[in-house]
Amino acid sequence: MKAELDAIVVGSGPNGLAAAVTLARAGHRVRVYERAGTPGGGAATSELTLPGFRHDVCSAVHPLAFESRFFREFGLTRRVRFAVPELSFAHPLDGGRAALAYRDLERTRDALGADGPAYARLMAPLAARASAIAEFTGATLLRVPRDPVAAVRFGIHALEQGTPLWGARFREDAAPALLTGVAAHSILHQPSIAGSGAGLALAAYGHARGWPIPMGGSQAIVDAMTDDIRAHGGEIVTEHEVRSLRELPRARAVLLDVTPAALIRLAGDRMPPRYRAALERFRYGDGVAKVDFALSEPVPWADPEVRRAGTVHVGGTRAEVAASENAVGRGRLSDRPYVLVSQPSSFDPGRAPAGQHTLWTYTHVPAGSTADREEAVIRQIERFAPGFRDTILASRSRTAVEVARHNPNYVGGDISAGAPSLMQLVRRPTLGPDPWRTPMPGVYLCSASVSPGPGVHGLGGWWAALSALRNEFGTRALPDLSPR
Ligand SMILES: Cc1cc2nc3c(=O)[nH]c(=O)nc-3n(C[C@H](O)[C@H](O)[C@H](O)COP(=O)(O)OP(=O)(O)OC[C@H]3O[C@@H](n4cnc5c(N)ncnc54)[C@H](O)[C@@H]3O)c2cc1C
Repeated sequence: MKAELDAIVVGSGPNGLAAAVTLARAGHRVRVYERAGTPGGGAATSELTLPGFRHDVCSAVHPLAFESRFFREFGLTRRVRFAVPELSFAHPLDGGRAALAYRDLERTRDALGADGPAYARLMAPLAARASAIAEFTGATLLRVPRDPVAAVRFGIHALEQGTPLWGARFREDAAPALLTGVAAHSILHQPSIAGSGAGLALAAYGHARGWPIPMGGSQAIVDAMTDDIRAHGGEIVTEHEVRSLRELPRARAVLLDVTPAALIRLAGDRMPPRYRAALERFRYGDGVAKVDFALSEPVPWADPEVRRAGTVHVGGTRAEVAASENAVGRGRLSDRPYVLVSQPSSFDPGRAPAGQHTLWTYTHVPAGSTADREEAVIRQIERFAPGFRDTILASRSRTAVEVARHNPNYVGGDISAGAPSLMQLVRRPTLGPDPWRTPMPGVYLCSASVSPGPGVHGLGGWWAALSALRNEFGTRALPDLSPR
């Protein structure tokens, strides 16, 4: 019997959509099933607070938009307009000071004072090889890197910044705070090698091509992918939760933008016991609580330069950020939490009514936390931006449990869909050169739970689709994904 479809994708996050784009552009009939009412998963934009205020529901800032191999093939920058703040990220400190990471590394060095040269010596070789870093961290770490020099340098610096020796090259508090602020994106122990690796890669992108913000919100990236899928004969079925692989129509390939835990449930007794045991060993990380604000005016940061930053890391010194992150790792909430903050409306005025602003924030919490962190987030921002509270017109707060309810890939609120520990970066979710392919015929995992891991880059979907093209359709050629 002829298969009704060539390929089915379950889940329409950036990875599911990247898989569907790749398969549709290879000439295959693709259908995407999405449980939510709209496609996009962790890349959606909507009015969460007041009419006219468009908030990014999950991701907001896209360091990988320019560096992802999939997005380059897809020609993302020809389809979506991005604002690129000249100040990639800022880290306010008490006393009205701030550490500032400009895209321009020399300017960053000059602004950092006594530690400027040491910071520049650390970052310059990484920023110069940012694309090589993106290349070898953008697949499975078991592949031989094309630029081994970049990989070795990156490894040495990640080791230095990932151990208790991390302060050795610095004398003041600004540069260390800047580095820990970006490493803490990983939701891992501070210091740790995986955390510093993630932080140094992100910082390198920040000093190379910047941390772009899509005009119109993250939804614009999703819209570009869904338009391309439909233009090439693909279908997207929303409000359709897949509960078992058995219920799917026949297709040669099934690609799943879900977690290993969900794959175990979907496959039932079709899953070989050894593979099941490996997936059961996969560990999920701590969670996030998110708070979105509609503001009457920009955040009144004490250091006015911070207002120019695309992303602000709030949490004080390196020691304070590490203490709050490590408390979360021990299952506790911090009184002075680390908070990620972005005010996209400063760069994309269409996100809020004239003169007003949308503010995106989230903070880390223990997995499965039901704590509402709105007051803690407001207090921590107020510490570095006195008067912030008075600018709030409306807010929307979500606990880690609510984040997980919104999207089951975020188990317990874990937005990485699996802890990005060193072990789970190499073995994600299993060890091998093709972690996207499962031992079940025609079944692939394509979510952030599989290499290369979290972030809006589409690479999990792209690699899974290339594996399916090779193994199920006998195609080795890369499909042309460029805009036509
Ligand atoms: C609060 C927050 C902030 C973030 N900030 C950033 C950021 O600024 N920059 C960045 O790069 N990344 C950020 N991320 C992470 C980023 O959003 C994710 O890493 C990325 O979306 C993962 O893509 P994905 O396709 O693997 O999965 P997801 O985007 O999680 O999508 C999975 C999709 O599958 C659907 N699905 C699951 N199971 C089923 C089923 N059985 N049937 C049908 N559909 C199903 C879900 O509904 C969902 O739509 C953030 C995430 C969150 C939550």
